[in-house]
Amino acid sequence: MQRNIDTLTKTIHKYLERNSLYVENPPWEIRKSDLGGFGVFAARSIETGELIFRDYPIILGPRAALTCPPLCVNCYGKDNLRPCEKKCGLKLCSDKCQNSSKHQKECKIVRQWQTRPIPEELSEKLGKVFSPIRAILLSDEDKKVVRCLKAHISDQHGFEVDVMKKVLYLDVKEDEEMFMRFVCCVMDANAFEVIVGSENNQSSVKGLYPLGSLANHSCTPNTIHVFDNNQHMIVRASTFIPKGTEIFHSYSRVIWGTPTRRFHLFRTKHFLCKCQRCEDPTEFGSYVSAILCKNCKTGKVIPIDPLIHNGKWQCEGCAESINKKDVAALSSLLGSTLNSFTNDDVEIMLKFITTKLATVVPENNETVVELKYKLIWILGHERGFTWTELSDDHLLAKEKFCGELLALLELLRLGQCKMRGLLLYELYCCHAEQKRRQAKAGSASKTSDKSLLLEAADILMYDVGAPPEIKKLWPDEIKLREQ
Ligand SMILES: [Zn+2]
Ligand SMILES: [Zn+2]
Ligand SMILES: [Zn+2]
Ligand SMILES: [Zn+2]
Repeated sequence: MQRNIDTLTKTIHKYLERNSLYVENPPWEIRKSDLGGFGVFAARSIETGELIFRDYPIILGPRAALTCPPLCVNCYGKDNLRPCEKKCGLKLCSDKCQNSSKHQKECKIVRQWQTRPIPEELSEKLGKVFSPIRAILLSDEDKKVVRCLKAHISDQHGFEVDVMKKVLYLDVKEDEEMFMRFVCCVMDANAFEVIVGSENNQSSVKGLYPLGSLANHSCTPNTIHVFDNNQHMIVRASTFIPKGTEIFHSYSRVIWGTPTRRFHLFRTKHFLCKCQRCEDPTEFGSYVSAILCKNCKTGKVIPIDPLIHNGKWQCEGCAESINKKDVAALSSLLGSTLNSFTNDDVEIMLKFITTKLATVVPENNETVVELKYKLIWILGHERGFTWTELSDDHLLAKEKFCGELLALLELLRLGQCKMRGLLLYELYCCHAEQKRRQAKAGSASKTSDKSLLLEAADILMYDVGAPPEIKKLWPDEIKLREQ
Protein backbone atom coordinates (compact mmCIF):
# COMPACT_ATOMS: atom_id res chain seq x y z
CA MET A 1 0.00 0.00 0.00
CA GLN A 2 2.81 2.39 0.94
CA ARG A 3 4.32 1.99 -2.51
CA ASN A 4 1.01 2.80 -4.14
CA ILE A 5 0.68 5.98 -2.14
CA ASP A 6 4.22 6.91 -3.20
CA THR A 7 3.48 6.25 -6.87
CA LEU A 8 0.22 8.16 -6.71
CA THR A 9 1.85 11.09 -4.89
CA LYS A 10 4.68 11.22 -7.45
CA THR A 11 2.24 11.03 -10.36
CA ILE A 12 0.17 13.90 -8.95
CA HIS A 13 3.26 16.00 -8.07
CA LYS A 14 4.58 15.59 -11.61
CA TYR A 15 1.21 16.45 -13.10
CA LEU A 16 1.07 19.66 -11.05
CA GLU A 17 4.67 20.46 -12.04
CA ARG A 18 3.85 20.05 -15.74
CA ASN A 19 1.07 22.60 -15.23
CA SER A 20 3.24 24.98 -13.18
CA LEU A 21 1.05 24.39 -10.11
CA TYR A 22 3.46 22.52 -7.88
CA VAL A 23 4.60 24.19 -4.66
CA GLU A 24 7.42 22.91 -2.41
CA ASN A 25 6.20 21.28 0.82
CA PRO A 26 2.50 21.50 0.04
CA PRO A 27 0.10 21.58 3.02
CA TRP A 28 -1.57 18.39 1.74
CA GLU A 29 -0.52 14.77 1.39
CA ILE A 30 -2.14 11.63 0.00
CA ARG A 31 -2.86 8.90 2.53
CA LYS A 32 -5.09 5.90 3.01
CA SER A 33 -8.56 7.07 4.07
CA ASP A 34 -10.79 5.44 6.69
CA LEU A 35 -13.49 5.65 4.03
CA GLY A 36 -11.56 3.11 1.91
CA GLY A 37 -9.18 3.96 -0.91
CA PHE A 38 -7.10 7.11 -0.79
CA GLY A 39 -7.77 10.60 0.47
CA VAL A 40 -6.07 13.96 0.80
CA PHE A 41 -4.91 14.94 4.30
CA ALA A 42 -3.53 18.04 6.00
CA ALA A 43 0.27 17.60 6.16
CA ARG A 44 0.32 20.44 8.70
CA SER A 45 -2.32 22.57 10.41
CA ILE A 46 -4.12 24.76 7.89
CA GLU A 47 -5.74 28.08 8.83
CA THR A 48 -9.24 29.08 7.72
CA GLY A 49 -9.06 30.69 4.28
CA GLU A 50 -5.60 29.32 3.49
CA LEU A 51 -4.95 28.08 -0.04
CA ILE A 52 -4.54 24.28 0.07
CA PHE A 53 -3.94 23.52 -3.60
CA ARG A 54 -4.65 24.54 -7.17
CA ASP A 55 -5.46 21.97 -9.80
CA TYR A 56 -5.87 22.00 -13.57
CA PRO A 57 -8.38 19.88 -15.53
CA ILE A 58 -6.68 17.02 -17.31
CA ILE A 59 -9.87 16.68 -19.40
CA LEU A 60 -12.45 19.43 -19.86
CA GLY A 61 -15.46 18.99 -22.10
CA PRO A 62 -19.16 19.59 -22.68
CA ARG A 63 -21.61 17.82 -20.39
CA ALA A 64 -23.69 15.02 -21.87
CA ALA A 65 -27.02 16.04 -20.27
CA LEU A 66 -29.79 16.76 -22.77
CA THR A 67 -30.67 19.98 -20.95
CA CYS A 68 -27.25 21.47 -21.75
CA PRO A 69 -27.33 23.73 -24.83
CA PRO A 70 -24.92 23.05 -27.73
CA LEU A 71 -21.52 24.70 -27.20
CA CYS A 72 -18.46 25.57 -29.28
CA VAL A 73 -16.25 22.55 -28.73
CA ASN A 74 -13.20 24.80 -28.40
CA CYS A 75 -14.23 27.79 -26.21
CA TYR A 76 -17.67 26.61 -24.93
CA GLY A 77 -19.37 29.75 -26.25
CA LYS A 78 -23.05 29.36 -27.16
CA ASP A 79 -23.36 31.90 -29.97
CA ASN A 80 -22.63 31.86 -33.73
CA LEU A 81 -22.04 28.12 -33.87
CA ARG A 82 -21.25 26.79 -37.33
CA PRO A 83 -20.04 23.43 -38.62
CA CYS A 84 -16.28 22.89 -38.86
CA GLU A 85 -14.96 23.84 -42.31
CA LYS A 86 -13.07 20.57 -42.49
CA LYS A 87 -16.29 18.63 -41.88
CA CYS A 88 -15.29 16.78 -38.72
CA GLY A 89 -18.90 17.15 -37.60
CA LEU A 90 -18.18 19.40 -34.63
CA LYS A 91 -19.38 22.98 -34.29
CA LEU A 92 -17.25 26.04 -33.58
CA CYS A 93 -18.02 29.70 -32.99
CA SER A 94 -15.25 31.64 -34.79
CA ASP A 95 -12.22 31.48 -37.08
CA LYS A 96 -10.06 31.62 -33.97
CA CYS A 97 -11.66 28.45 -32.59
CA GLN A 98 -11.70 26.81 -36.04
CA ASN A 99 -7.97 27.41 -36.52
CA SER A 100 -6.82 26.69 -32.97
CA SER A 101 -4.14 24.01 -32.76
CA LYS A 102 -6.30 22.18 -30.22
CA HIS A 103 -9.16 21.86 -32.67
CA GLN A 104 -6.83 20.89 -35.53
CA LYS A 105 -5.65 17.85 -33.56
CA GLU A 106 -9.15 16.88 -32.45
CA CYS A 107 -10.56 17.49 -35.92
CA LYS A 108 -8.00 15.16 -37.46
CA ILE A 109 -8.72 12.21 -35.19
CA VAL A 110 -12.50 12.47 -35.65
CA ARG A 111 -12.09 12.65 -39.42
CA GLN A 112 -9.82 9.60 -39.32
CA TRP A 113 -12.52 7.66 -37.48
CA GLN A 114 -15.37 8.72 -39.76
CA THR A 115 -16.84 6.04 -41.99
CA ARG A 116 -19.50 8.40 -43.36
CA PRO A 117 -20.20 12.14 -43.08
CA ILE A 118 -21.78 13.23 -39.80
CA PRO A 119 -25.04 15.03 -40.67
CA GLU A 120 -25.57 18.43 -39.06
CA GLU A 121 -28.42 17.16 -36.89
CA LEU A 122 -26.00 14.74 -35.18
CA SER A 123 -23.33 17.36 -34.60
CA GLU A 124 -24.67 18.14 -31.13
CA LYS A 125 -24.50 14.45 -30.20
CA LEU A 126 -20.84 14.30 -31.21
CA GLY A 127 -20.12 17.42 -29.14
CA LYS A 128 -21.73 15.90 -26.08
CA VAL A 129 -19.74 12.67 -26.18
CA PHE A 130 -16.50 14.47 -26.88
CA SER A 131 -14.74 14.28 -23.48
CA PRO A 132 -13.52 10.68 -23.87
CA ILE A 133 -12.18 11.50 -27.35
CA ARG A 134 -10.11 14.22 -25.72
CA ALA A 135 -8.59 11.59 -23.45
CA ILE A 136 -7.24 9.72 -26.51
CA LEU A 137 -5.15 12.78 -27.39
CA LEU A 138 -3.53 13.11 -23.96
CA SER A 139 0.22 12.59 -23.67
CA ASP A 140 1.36 9.21 -22.30
CA GLU A 141 2.24 10.89 -19.01
CA ASP A 142 -1.24 12.39 -18.69
CA LYS A 143 -2.85 9.08 -19.61
CA LYS A 144 -0.94 7.59 -16.69
CA VAL A 145 -2.54 10.18 -14.39
CA VAL A 146 -6.03 9.27 -15.58
CA ARG A 147 -5.27 5.56 -15.11
CA CYS A 148 -4.41 6.05 -11.44
CA LEU A 149 -7.76 7.70 -10.60
CA LYS A 150 -10.74 5.92 -9.09
CA ALA A 151 -13.29 4.59 -11.61
CA HIS A 152 -16.85 3.32 -11.25
CA ILE A 153 -16.57 0.25 -13.39
CA SER A 154 -20.12 -0.41 -14.52
CA ASP A 155 -21.92 -1.17 -17.77
CA GLN A 156 -24.13 1.88 -17.38
CA HIS A 157 -21.15 4.15 -18.05
CA GLY A 158 -19.50 4.51 -21.42
CA PHE A 159 -22.70 5.23 -23.36
CA GLU A 160 -20.62 7.95 -25.03
CA VAL A 161 -18.62 5.23 -26.76
CA ASP A 162 -21.84 3.47 -27.82
CA VAL A 163 -23.03 6.72 -29.40
CA MET A 164 -19.71 7.06 -31.25
CA LYS A 165 -19.98 3.54 -32.66
CA LYS A 166 -23.71 2.98 -33.16
CA VAL A 167 -25.04 6.45 -33.93
CA LEU A 168 -22.09 8.26 -35.49
CA TYR A 169 -20.50 5.13 -37.00
CA LEU A 170 -17.01 6.15 -35.92
CA ASP A 171 -14.44 3.45 -36.52
CA VAL A 172 -12.77 3.35 -33.13
CA LYS A 173 -9.93 0.86 -32.57
CA GLU A 174 -10.36 -1.70 -29.81
CA ASP A 175 -7.62 -0.35 -27.50
CA GLU A 176 -8.96 3.18 -27.95
CA GLU A 177 -12.45 1.98 -27.15
CA MET A 178 -11.27 0.27 -23.97
CA PHE A 179 -9.44 3.36 -22.79
CA MET A 180 -12.38 5.64 -23.59
CA ARG A 181 -14.78 3.37 -21.66
CA PHE A 182 -12.41 3.50 -18.70
CA VAL A 183 -12.25 7.30 -19.00
CA CYS A 184 -16.06 7.47 -18.92
CA CYS A 185 -16.01 5.49 -15.65
CA VAL A 186 -13.34 7.82 -14.21
CA MET A 187 -15.28 10.92 -15.29
CA ASP A 188 -18.48 9.51 -13.79
CA ALA A 189 -16.80 9.03 -10.43
CA ASN A 190 -14.77 12.22 -10.38
CA ALA A 191 -15.84 14.98 -12.77
CA PHE A 192 -16.72 18.42 -11.40
CA GLU A 193 -19.15 20.87 -12.92
CA VAL A 194 -17.15 23.90 -14.07
CA ILE A 195 -18.52 27.30 -15.05
CA VAL A 196 -16.68 28.95 -17.95
CA GLY A 197 -17.13 32.38 -19.53
CA SER A 198 -17.96 35.80 -18.18
CA GLU A 199 -21.07 37.03 -16.31
CA ASN A 200 -23.46 37.27 -19.24
CA ASN A 201 -22.20 34.36 -21.27
CA GLN A 202 -21.62 31.46 -18.92
CA SER A 203 -21.61 27.80 -19.84
CA SER A 204 -21.47 24.75 -17.64
CA VAL A 205 -18.99 22.04 -18.63
CA LYS A 206 -17.36 19.11 -16.84
CA GLY A 207 -13.76 18.81 -15.80
CA LEU A 208 -11.56 16.05 -14.41
CA TYR A 209 -9.22 17.42 -11.74
CA PRO A 210 -6.69 14.76 -10.66
CA LEU A 211 -5.87 16.06 -7.19
CA GLY A 212 -9.33 17.53 -6.62
CA SER A 213 -10.88 14.16 -7.36
CA LEU A 214 -8.68 12.40 -4.77
CA ALA A 215 -10.33 14.40 -1.99
CA ASN A 216 -13.29 12.49 -0.55
CA HIS A 217 -16.79 13.73 0.24
CA SER A 218 -18.26 14.87 3.53
CA CYS A 219 -21.60 16.61 4.11
CA THR A 220 -19.63 18.90 6.46
CA PRO A 221 -16.72 19.71 4.15
CA ASN A 222 -13.71 21.61 5.49
CA THR A 223 -12.85 23.22 2.16
CA ILE A 224 -14.36 25.54 -0.41
CA HIS A 225 -13.51 25.04 -4.07
CA VAL A 226 -14.02 27.60 -6.83
CA PHE A 227 -12.91 27.86 -10.47
CA ASP A 228 -11.01 30.83 -11.82
CA ASN A 229 -11.02 32.41 -15.25
CA ASN A 230 -8.70 29.72 -16.63
CA GLN A 231 -10.63 26.74 -15.25
CA HIS A 232 -8.12 26.20 -12.45
CA MET A 233 -9.71 24.67 -9.37
CA ILE A 234 -8.73 26.58 -6.23
CA VAL A 235 -9.23 24.76 -2.96
CA ARG A 236 -9.07 26.68 0.33
CA ALA A 237 -9.81 25.78 3.94
CA SER A 238 -13.34 26.77 5.00
CA THR A 239 -12.53 25.98 8.63
CA PHE A 240 -9.34 25.43 10.63
CA ILE A 241 -7.95 22.01 9.65
CA PRO A 242 -5.68 20.40 12.26
CA LYS A 243 -2.61 18.48 11.04
CA GLY A 244 -3.44 14.92 9.98
CA THR A 245 -7.16 15.61 9.35
CA GLU A 246 -8.69 14.41 6.10
CA ILE A 247 -9.54 17.16 3.61
CA PHE A 248 -13.11 16.95 2.29
CA HIS A 249 -15.21 18.47 -0.50
CA SER A 250 -18.96 18.27 -0.71
CA TYR A 251 -20.40 16.67 -3.86
CA SER A 252 -23.94 17.41 -2.72
CA ARG A 253 -26.03 20.43 -1.75
CA VAL A 254 -25.36 21.39 1.85
CA ILE A 255 -28.90 22.68 2.47
CA TRP A 256 -30.54 19.36 1.64
CA GLY A 257 -31.58 17.04 4.46
CA THR A 258 -29.86 13.72 5.07
CA PRO A 259 -32.21 11.40 3.08
CA THR A 260 -32.09 13.77 0.08
CA ARG A 261 -28.30 14.13 0.18
CA ARG A 262 -27.69 10.43 0.63
CA PHE A 263 -30.06 9.52 -2.20
CA HIS A 264 -28.43 12.06 -4.50
CA LEU A 265 -24.91 10.87 -3.61
CA PHE A 266 -25.91 7.27 -4.15
CA ARG A 267 -27.50 7.98 -7.51
CA THR A 268 -24.72 10.19 -8.87
CA LYS A 269 -21.60 8.99 -7.07
CA HIS A 270 -22.70 5.48 -6.07
CA PHE A 271 -21.83 5.52 -2.37
CA LEU A 272 -23.73 5.83 0.90
CA CYS A 273 -22.37 8.67 3.00
CA LYS A 274 -21.76 7.88 6.66
CA CYS A 275 -20.26 11.20 7.72
CA GLN A 276 -20.82 12.83 11.11
CA ARG A 277 -23.71 14.91 9.84
CA CYS A 278 -25.42 11.92 8.16
CA GLU A 279 -25.08 9.93 11.39
CA ASP A 280 -26.74 12.62 13.52
CA PRO A 281 -30.59 12.36 13.50
CA THR A 282 -30.90 16.11 14.17
CA GLU A 283 -28.06 17.14 11.77
CA PHE A 284 -26.26 19.14 14.48
CA GLY A 285 -29.53 20.44 15.90
CA SER A 286 -30.60 21.99 12.58
CA TYR A 287 -33.49 19.56 11.94
CA VAL A 288 -33.10 20.07 8.18
CA SER A 289 -34.77 16.73 7.41
CA ALA A 290 -37.31 16.75 10.28
CA ILE A 291 -41.08 17.12 9.91
CA LEU A 292 -43.67 18.12 12.54
CA CYS A 293 -45.58 15.43 14.42
CA LYS A 294 -49.21 14.96 13.36
CA ASN A 295 -50.06 13.60 16.78
CA CYS A 296 -48.75 16.26 19.20
CA LYS A 297 -48.42 18.98 16.50
CA THR A 298 -45.24 20.53 17.95
CA GLY A 299 -42.76 17.63 18.33
CA LYS A 300 -40.13 17.13 15.64
CA VAL A 301 -40.10 13.76 13.91
CA ILE A 302 -36.57 12.50 13.16
CA PRO A 303 -35.05 9.19 12.07
CA ILE A 304 -34.06 6.85 14.91
CA ASP A 305 -31.02 5.75 12.87
CA PRO A 306 -30.55 7.93 9.77
CA LEU A 307 -28.10 5.46 8.22
CA ILE A 308 -30.76 2.74 7.97
CA HIS A 309 -32.64 3.02 4.69
CA ASN A 310 -36.41 2.96 5.35
CA GLY A 311 -35.85 2.81 9.12
CA LYS A 312 -38.38 4.10 11.68
CA TRP A 313 -38.82 7.78 12.42
CA GLN A 314 -39.99 9.01 15.82
CA CYS A 315 -41.38 12.18 17.40
CA GLU A 316 -39.01 13.73 19.93
CA GLY A 317 -41.99 15.09 21.87
CA CYS A 318 -44.59 12.32 22.19
CA ALA A 319 -42.51 9.33 20.95
CA GLU A 320 -45.11 8.50 18.28
CA SER A 321 -43.35 6.50 15.55
CA ILE A 322 -43.85 7.03 11.83
CA ASN A 323 -42.91 5.04 8.74
CA LYS A 324 -40.19 6.48 6.56
CA LYS A 325 -42.62 6.11 3.65
CA ASP A 326 -44.99 8.70 5.16
CA VAL A 327 -42.12 11.12 5.72
CA ALA A 328 -40.95 10.58 2.14
CA ALA A 329 -44.49 11.13 0.79
CA LEU A 330 -44.72 14.52 2.52
CA SER A 331 -41.23 15.52 1.34
CA SER A 332 -42.01 14.66 -2.25
CA LEU A 333 -45.36 16.50 -2.09
CA LEU A 334 -43.62 19.62 -0.72
CA GLY A 335 -40.81 19.23 -3.26
CA SER A 336 -43.20 19.14 -6.21
CA THR A 337 -45.17 22.12 -4.86
CA LEU A 338 -41.89 24.01 -4.63
CA ASN A 339 -40.95 23.11 -8.20
CA SER A 340 -44.32 24.30 -9.49
CA PHE A 341 -43.67 27.90 -8.38
CA THR A 342 -42.49 30.37 -11.00
CA ASN A 343 -40.74 33.70 -10.47
CA ASP A 344 -44.11 35.45 -10.61
CA ASP A 345 -45.39 33.53 -7.59
CA VAL A 346 -43.45 35.56 -5.02
CA GLU A 347 -46.51 36.42 -2.92
CA ILE A 348 -47.76 32.82 -3.01
CA MET A 349 -44.34 31.53 -1.99
CA LEU A 350 -44.05 33.98 0.90
CA LYS A 351 -47.50 32.95 2.10
CA PHE A 352 -46.74 29.25 1.67
CA ILE A 353 -43.81 29.57 4.08
CA THR A 354 -45.84 31.15 6.87
CA THR A 355 -49.04 29.12 6.43
CA LYS A 356 -48.89 25.56 5.04
CA LEU A 357 -45.17 24.91 5.65
CA ALA A 358 -45.24 26.26 9.20
CA THR A 359 -47.86 23.64 10.15
CA VAL A 360 -46.12 20.57 8.69
CA VAL A 361 -42.35 21.10 9.03
CA PRO A 362 -39.97 22.92 11.41
CA GLU A 363 -38.42 26.24 10.36
CA ASN A 364 -35.14 24.82 9.00
CA ASN A 365 -36.69 21.97 7.02
CA GLU A 366 -35.07 21.62 3.59
CA THR A 367 -38.22 22.72 1.72
CA VAL A 368 -38.45 25.94 3.74
CA VAL A 369 -34.73 26.56 3.26
CA GLU A 370 -34.87 25.84 -0.46
CA LEU A 371 -37.84 28.17 -0.87
CA LYS A 372 -36.12 31.00 1.02
CA TYR A 373 -32.99 30.49 -1.08
CA LYS A 374 -35.08 30.63 -4.26
CA LEU A 375 -36.73 33.87 -3.08
CA ILE A 376 -33.35 35.42 -2.25
CA TRP A 377 -32.35 34.98 -5.92
CA ILE A 378 -35.62 36.39 -7.25
CA LEU A 379 -35.85 39.42 -4.97
CA GLY A 380 -33.32 41.98 -6.15
CA HIS A 381 -32.55 40.10 -9.37
CA GLU A 382 -35.47 38.99 -11.51
CA ARG A 383 -37.67 41.08 -13.79
CA GLY A 384 -40.25 43.02 -11.78
CA PHE A 385 -38.22 42.52 -8.59
CA THR A 386 -34.98 44.37 -9.31
CA TRP A 387 -33.47 46.40 -6.45
CA THR A 388 -35.21 49.61 -7.41
CA GLU A 389 -38.56 47.89 -8.05
CA LEU A 390 -38.57 45.92 -4.79
CA SER A 391 -41.22 46.89 -2.23
CA ASP A 392 -40.01 47.71 1.29
CA ASP A 393 -41.69 44.54 2.56
CA HIS A 394 -39.96 42.36 -0.01
CA LEU A 395 -36.64 44.00 0.79
CA LEU A 396 -37.16 43.22 4.48
CA ALA A 397 -38.17 39.63 3.68
CA LYS A 398 -35.01 39.12 1.66
CA GLU A 399 -32.86 40.57 4.45
CA LYS A 400 -34.52 38.29 6.99
CA PHE A 401 -34.05 35.15 4.84
CA CYS A 402 -30.35 35.95 4.30
CA GLY A 403 -29.86 36.23 8.06
CA GLU A 404 -31.77 33.00 8.75
CA LEU A 405 -29.84 30.98 6.19
CA LEU A 406 -26.51 32.36 7.43
CA ALA A 407 -27.45 31.20 10.93
CA LEU A 408 -28.37 27.76 9.55
CA LEU A 409 -25.00 27.42 7.77
CA GLU A 410 -23.32 28.10 11.10
CA LEU A 411 -25.43 25.45 12.83
CA LEU A 412 -24.35 23.04 10.10
CA ARG A 413 -20.69 23.88 10.89
CA LEU A 414 -19.96 24.89 7.31
CA GLY A 415 -17.52 27.70 8.11
CA GLN A 416 -16.45 29.98 5.25
CA CYS A 417 -18.39 28.02 2.62
CA LYS A 418 -19.39 29.35 -0.79
CA MET A 419 -23.05 29.78 0.13
CA ARG A 420 -22.00 31.95 3.08
CA GLY A 421 -20.02 34.17 0.72
CA LEU A 422 -23.00 34.53 -1.63
CA LEU A 423 -25.47 35.25 1.20
CA LEU A 424 -23.18 37.80 2.86
CA TYR A 425 -23.04 39.68 -0.42
CA GLU A 426 -26.83 39.57 -0.88
CA LEU A 427 -27.26 40.81 2.70
CA TYR A 428 -24.79 43.62 2.03
CA CYS A 429 -26.83 44.58 -1.07
CA CYS A 430 -30.05 44.64 1.03
CA HIS A 431 -28.42 47.06 3.46
CA ALA A 432 -27.05 49.20 0.63
CA GLU A 433 -30.53 49.47 -0.91
CA GLN A 434 -32.07 50.37 2.47
CA LYS A 435 -29.43 53.08 2.87
CA ARG A 436 -30.25 54.48 -0.56
CA ARG A 437 -33.94 54.61 0.38
CA GLN A 438 -33.26 56.29 3.72
CA ALA A 439 -30.98 58.86 2.09
CA LYS A 440 -33.69 59.59 -0.48
CA ALA A 441 -36.25 60.07 2.29
CA GLY A 442 -33.82 62.37 4.10
CA SER A 443 -33.58 60.19 7.23
CA ALA A 444 -30.34 59.22 8.97
CA SER A 445 -28.69 56.39 7.13
CA LYS A 446 -27.65 53.08 8.67
CA THR A 447 -24.01 52.63 9.68
CA SER A 448 -21.73 51.22 7.03
CA ASP A 449 -21.50 47.44 6.80
CA LYS A 450 -18.42 47.10 4.65
CA SER A 451 -17.43 44.08 6.78
CA LEU A 452 -20.09 41.92 5.07
CA LEU A 453 -18.70 42.90 1.67
CA LEU A 454 -15.09 42.29 2.70
CA GLU A 455 -15.86 38.87 4.13
CA ALA A 456 -17.83 37.90 1.01
CA ALA A 457 -14.91 39.07 -1.17
CA ASP A 458 -12.52 36.94 0.85
CA ILE A 459 -14.67 33.81 0.70
CA LEU A 460 -15.35 34.12 -3.03
CA MET A 461 -11.76 35.02 -3.90
CA TYR A 462 -10.63 33.60 -7.30
CA ASP A 463 -14.22 32.65 -8.23
CA VAL A 464 -14.86 33.52 -11.88
CA GLY A 465 -18.58 33.82 -11.12
CA ALA A 466 -18.17 36.34 -8.26
CA PRO A 467 -20.07 39.65 -8.64
CA PRO A 468 -17.95 42.49 -10.20
CA GLU A 469 -18.29 44.59 -7.02
CA ILE A 470 -16.55 41.80 -5.11
CA LYS A 471 -13.83 41.22 -7.72
CA LYS A 472 -12.78 44.87 -7.35
CA LEU A 473 -11.75 44.15 -3.77
CA TRP A 474 -9.39 41.29 -4.57
CA PRO A 475 -5.62 41.74 -4.28
CA ASP A 476 -4.05 42.98 -7.54
CA GLU A 477 -2.24 39.71 -8.28
CA ILE A 478 -5.59 37.89 -8.44
CA LYS A 479 -7.21 40.63 -10.51
CA LEU A 480 -4.34 40.38 -13.01
CA ARG A 481 -4.77 36.63 -13.27
CA GLU A 482 -8.41 37.29 -14.17
CA GLN A 483 -7.52 39.20 -17.32
ZN1 LIG B 1 -15.41 29.02 -29.82
ZN1 LIG C 1 -13.03 20.15 -37.29
ZN1 LIG D 1 -22.84 12.72 4.86
ZN1 LIG E 1 -45.43 14.03 18.69
